[in-house]
Formats: sequence, C-alpha cells, structure tokens
Amino acid sequence: MAKLKVGYIGLGVMGKAMARNILRSGFSLTVWNRTAAKADELLEFGAKWAESPAELAKAVDVVCVNVSDTSDVLDIVLGENGVIVGAHEGLIVIDHSTIKPAGSREIYERLKEVGVWSLDAPVSGGDIGAQQGTLTIMVGGDFDALEKVMPVLEAEGKKITHVGAPGAGQIAKAANQIMVAAQMVAEAELLIFAQKAGADPVKVIEAIKSGAAQCWTLDVKPSRLFAGNRKPGFKASLQAKDLAIVMETAREYLISLPGTAVAAQLFNGMVALGEGDLDNSAVIGMIERLSNETLETKA
Ligand code: NAP
Repeated sequence: MAKLKVGYIGLGVMGKAMARNILRSGFSLTVWNRTAAKADELLEFGAKWAESPAELAKAVDVVCVNVSDTSDVLDIVLGENGVIVGAHEGLIVIDHSTIKPAGSREIYERLKEVGVWSLDAPVSGGDIGAQQGTLTIMVGGDFDALEKVMPVLEAEGKKITHVGAPGAGQIAKAANQIMVAAQMVAEAELLIFAQKAGADPVKVIEAIKSGAAQCWTLDVKPSRLFAGNRKPGFKASLQAKDLAIVMETAREYLISLPGTAVAAQLFNGMVALGEGDLDNSAVIGMIERLSNETLETKA
C-alpha cells in the first residue's frame, strides 16, 4: 500500500522535531507554519511548503496540527483558510496540541459534517521525547481512523493508546499535567530545601532519583537547572495554559484538586512576572524568591 501523504502545521519545539521524524520514516511531508522561517530546516530535508492550512489539506491524506492553545487550533482547522476549507473526503486530522476537551469535540463534529475524521492526540515526553520519537500519545476519537494513521503516529511516538471517544485524549493529557505540574513544584521545593538546609542538591538528587521519588522530572530537569539552563523544553506559559484546562474541567465536573490549584497559581505567577517563556522547571524561581535562596549553578 502506498504511504500516506502527511501534512504538518505548527513547527515549534514539539512540531518541528515530530515532523522531522515523520520525514525520517519515509513519508512525503508538506508543512505550514505561521512563522515561515521555522520550516527552512525541514524544507532542506525534502519537505514541501504549503501557502496556507487550506492548501496543505488539499495536498495530503493526513494533517497533523501542533500549535499552542484551543483558539489557535480552532482557527487553523475551522477558520478562514483553515484545514476545513481544503478538506476532502477521507482526510484525517490529528491534533497533537494540548487543548480543552470541548475544543476537540467541536472540531470532531464540524469535520465529521464534511466527511473528515479527526483525532485528538496530545503527547507527553517533552522536547527530548519529540526528538527521539519516544513520545506517549493519548488518542480520542474513532478507532478506525486511528488504525489508518497508526504508521504516522508510530513515527512520532512509542506508546500509543486509544483512550476513548473524541476529547478523551485531551482528558488523559490534562490528567497527565496534574502529575507533571506536581513534579515540577516538588522538584523546585526539594532542591531549595536541600541546599538551604545544608546538603549539596547535586548529591541529594543522585541519592534519591532511583528511590521512591523516582520520576521523569528528576531524570531530566535537575541537570539542566544545575547548569543554569532555564530555557524550554516546555514553556511555563504552556504549563499555565494546561493547568487552566485542568481547573476548568474540574469545575465543570465538580472535582476538587487542591494540590493542582497551588501549582496553577505558581505558574500563573511566573507568567505575570514575565517568565512565561522560561521552562516549566524554572518554577524554582518562585520558590527561590519565597525562600530567599538561589539555586547554585554547578559546572
Ligand atoms: P512552541 O514551541 O511555543 O510552538 C508553538 C507553535 O504554535 C509554533 O509553531 C507557533 O507558530 C504555533 N502557533 C501558536 N499560535 C498560533 C496561531 N494562532 N496560528 C498559527 N500558529 C500558531 O510550543 P510547543 O512546545 O511546540 O507546544 C506545542 C503544543 O504541544 C502545545 O499545545 C503544548 O502544550 C504541547 N506540548 C508541549 C510539550 C513540550 O515539552 N514542549 C510537551 C507536550 C505537549 P510560530 O512559530 O509562528 O510562533
């Protein structure tokens, strides 16, 4: 069977790396990004450029979208010159962005009316997972559509799970973000706690990272913080956006999330202080200020 023709919209930290892996797996790739220059590297590797999301949709079998927030995805898929304008029977749209479950359901319904399948397929695993093609992908939508695009998803990630109906992938991702935010805040607190109370935080991490505190965050983030690197990775503004999705959904279903509420306030504070473009692990800056202690950088 001929390989699917793939289109990719949104070439940020995640999208660019994931699109690169789709190319590496031998798919023909057409790309569009609001800031055109970010496509240069992929064009050098053989991707084609489309003038708009609508033009891209006309040219491919599968459209992957990977942009920031709910309104951005709605605009790209359903807006003027959006994917829906270039849609054709049998097209499948995969949205990898983290957005509100209600946004995914709206996209599913609107595209279904014009014979287009859509899947919400947010990811976890960070910039490193995107580069290495080892992402976890949580999928909501029709299983038949998922089966058709499985080879594309396998180029981007390692663990692909059909969670349920449209929007279920986003609910899984929001649940994931409850844990990720808690890890970031706990990491920040433990590093400042260890240092100010008199233990070398590098040694502390070495000692605890394979014990009961073991997690992705402790494997990846402390070495970046010790090197003085607080660049994304995963922007704090996106973490704040994800926690807003969590809290809004929790309010809708009357779920009490006291721990996540505290984390959400810390990330909102980062955005208010102009630190939204820093990595989510840079939430340590909030704990530093509250504790009057700065994490020392280590060679
Ligand atoms: P990013 O580096 O900030 O890139 C955002 C991308 O979205 C850029 O290509 C940007 O275009 C595009 N964009 C934003 N608003 C747009 C609009 N209104 N119209 C057209 N394009 C628009 O973000 P990222 O880290 O790749 O994250 C992308 C998505 O993946 C987000 O939903 C995020 O929550 C999720 N995610 C991120 C990570 C991570 O570790 N970074 C992990 C899991 C999930 P320009 O280039 O023109 O700005």
